Amino acid sequence: MNDCVFCKIVAGEIPSRKVFENDRILAFEDINPKAPTHILLIPKKHLENLNDGASDPALLGEIVARSAALAKELGVPDFRLVTNTGREAGQLVFHLHFHLLAGRRMGWPPG
Ligand code: AMP
Repeated sequence: MNDCVFCKIVAGEIPSRKVFENDRILAFEDINPKAPTHILLIPKKHLENLNDGASDPALLGEIVARSAALAKELGVPDFRLVTNTGREAGQLVFHLHFHLLAGRRMGWPPG
């Protein structure tokens, strides 16, 4: 998608602080962190959100499994994995992404 900020990050047109990459997935630090650890995991292919992403359950499973592996590597076994789906749910960037948040006590339910 031409105007998608995360597609531009995948393409290397916008810089990011990468923490993991393979053929299908990219993980990088959130530019405006909401916790001491705040990583975004995204599919490299453009999917709008989880409604769109449900078409590829293998990819979703890989992202979820990778988030746990990354949390372990980063030394934060207690973490929250969130994906906002749609504007009403707080989605601002319409390229599927999972927030990996850790390093502070999380409230519940989220606001
Ligand atoms: P959401 O509200 O779930 O769509 O979250 C979008 C997230 O993307 C926010 O936490 C932003 O801080 C983050 N974000 C937006 N642009 C960038 C960027 N260029 N690099 C890293 N994170 C970004």
